[in-house]
Amino acid sequence: MRFSARVSGTVAASAVSAYVPSRACVSHAVRGATVILAAALTGAAPAPPGYLLAQEGGHMMHGDHHEGVTVLRAARMLDVVTGELHTDAVIVVEDGLITAVNPATVPHSMHDMDLGDVTLLPGFIDAHTHLGSEIGATSFTDAVTRTEAYYAINAVRFGALTVRAGFTTVRDFGGDVTVELGHAVERGDIVGPRVIPSRNLIGITGGHCEVTGFAPGIREGGPEEGVADGPWEVVEAVRYQIKHGAKVIKTCATAGVLSMEGPVGAQQYSLEELTAMVEEAARHGIKVAAHAHGSEGILAAVQAGVASIEHGSILTDEIMDLMIEKGTYLVPTTYLADRIDLDALPALVRAKAEQILPVMRVSLQRAIDRGVPVAFGTDAGVFPHGENAGEFGIYVGMGMSELDALRTATIHAADLLGTPDRGHLAEGMLADIVAVPGNPLDDIAVTQDVQFVMLGGRVVKHVVGGRDMHSAGH
Ligand SMILES: [Zn+2]
Repeated sequence: MRFSARVSGTVAASAVSAYVPSRACVSHAVRGATVILAAALTGAAPAPPGYLLAQEGGHMMHGDHHEGVTVLRAARMLDVVTGELHTDAVIVVEDGLITAVNPATVPHSMHDMDLGDVTLLPGFIDAHTHLGSEIGATSFTDAVTRTEAYYAINAVRFGALTVRAGFTTVRDFGGDVTVELGHAVERGDIVGPRVIPSRNLIGITGGHCEVTGFAPGIREGGPEEGVADGPWEVVEAVRYQIKHGAKVIKTCATAGVLSMEGPVGAQQYSLEELTAMVEEAARHGIKVAAHAHGSEGILAAVQAGVASIEHGSILTDEIMDLMIEKGTYLVPTTYLADRIDLDALPALVRAKAEQILPVMRVSLQRAIDRGVPVAFGTDAGVFPHGENAGEFGIYVGMGMSELDALRTATIHAADLLGTPDRGHLAEGMLADIVAVPGNPLDDIAVTQDVQFVMLGGRVVKHVVGGRDMHSAGH
């Protein structure tokens, strides 16, 4: 499903830095953490954490720069590549990166944090979010009543919820708003996840990726807004999104649920159009994510070479075998079926949701059984932001091991996003680290109770005594 694209038709230039690893100043983040730990011991109110303390392009944006080493200790750490669970784990962080895991000699540090009875995991990745919006009573008129500022303010709030839920990277489909959100996070101006943005979604005239349901002339657009018909317009649309910040192309291969157009699974782009899109994106080193519910559209998208099928509601054996052969990821977005507010939907849309969501679950079960590659993605925004980790439990309930479920949001999602600098706790990786209570291999539900989040070496959440010591003032 798609939500925010219909509200993000305006265009504005923006540079791209979402892929650039943030080298946040470790000592600042940890100095804040140290103050908080001291406060916890003394019972005093913690000082506001040093949020505005990161650097961009090697230059500090705020405050002084202090070199420093952080040592994180925990009862357990999961190596998601090997599946090994290390006890008495130690991770050394410096200059935004992991510099050592369980070293023979732990360096001396003024910032040595023992997180206790938790398991350290790589920061989670959600490959399908809409941080600019959240479904509600006015969602279907927002496109003609709200401004971009509304979505920008939403994105700041929902981004903070998302990163504090342990999701340190998202692939977001939400126009200029989440292109700029990613920039602000990389600068260290706000607390949020790293963003791989699509900018505007690319779809046919009157299709799921366009604003529909209004009179002629209202919120209509062309390739710049992402409305494109025929291979050459599609190529133009791809080029324009990339010019203005897209690091992934999102398209609607079929009709969808949260829009006013026809049968939910109907194919909307031809194989020829999809192929032109994938080939043009590939010339820029960029992948295509295809929203697709019906079999014909899914098959065409997979044949065209998209990197992922979003939702994948009606899968056939032929499609699943081709996805396995080509390494096409399924991004299930299945938790939303439990959480979507059906009462907020117009009757036409509600009928489509009630038709397709149960079918989507059946296809996901078959895909898991058959071994289709799965990358974690939720469609957050269609249900409340911050609940992303609920998706893990659905996969495990369908027979995926807890380890493999964690891999969907770490190594597999990192592979899909083309970001090999994250998704694994190892030397040289970004210091994007979360901690969950207990052992997630015994109980995947602990992923919904993240106790600690570090983003590029900055502590952005640390629950002590049931209270997030980094939420003060936010
Ligand atoms: Zn979506």
